[in-house]
Amino acid sequence: MRIDIITIFPEMFEGPFTESIIKRAVNKGIVAIGLHNLRDYSTDKHKKVDDYSFAAGAGMVMMIEPVDNCITHLKSQRSYDEVIYMSPDGELLEQPLCNRLSLVQNLIILCGHYKGIDERIREHLITKEISIGNYVLSGGELGAAVLVDSLVRLIPGSLNDETSALSDSFQDGLVSPPVYTRPRSYKSWDVPEILLSGNDLKISEWKMEQALKRTELRRPEMFQKLKKSSS
Ligand code: SAH
Repeated sequence: MRIDIITIFPEMFEGPFTESIIKRAVNKGIVAIGLHNLRDYSTDKHKKVDDYSFAAGAGMVMMIEPVDNCITHLKSQRSYDEVIYMSPDGELLEQPLCNRLSLVQNLIILCGHYKGIDERIREHLITKEISIGNYVLSGGELGAAVLVDSLVRLIPGSLNDETSALSDSFQDGLVSPPVYTRPRSYKSWDVPEILLSGNDLKISEWKMEQALKRTELRRPEMFQKLKKSSS
């Protein structure tokens, strides 16, 4: 998979992309990430990428031309499955969308700033808009990093234990059961007895029971969906 990110702050991705699972996936050649500084595509002598909104007093807006130049340049090199704009009013990022996007070849992700981007970019250049939640961030970079992380960990070879992404929360319409490690007892806080029993069947039954309980308690709407689909 290849992901090209268009941003005015490429340094913001240092950290999220240079540690842990994404770093390993990049090093293994599982994913290639291109960071493109939008200012490099501005024809203005001050490398300007924003201008005043036509609605007076509404703040600055990202201009069309640098974005168009950058996307045109990228598209001249390969075809893209989606050109994504990170936007608070986009489709909410949830596991099924992550699963779908993790299967594609090439993605562009555009990070907005200020009041957002000129609407005509959204109408003519963007194919998908994604929000990471119903709150407003200062820029699209943190959202893009969240999106990339959620996709990369699903690509086979990214995680050490390939099955582990499939047993995470939301993959089967359930949240995860609780997990424990050594010691068995800490300040007399004990690991549930069943997990020490060595009885695999009983342990998987317990895990399922816990996952169902937790889902009902913490994600009641998800639990209702699950009940409906199994009845
Ligand atoms: N005026 C806009 C918010 C702009 S915030 C509005 O009210 O909808 C600046 C940029 O941050 C946006 O262009 C977008 O790229 C990014 N952003 C903000 N919140 C986001 C969210 N919840 N999910 C994804 N991107 C977000």
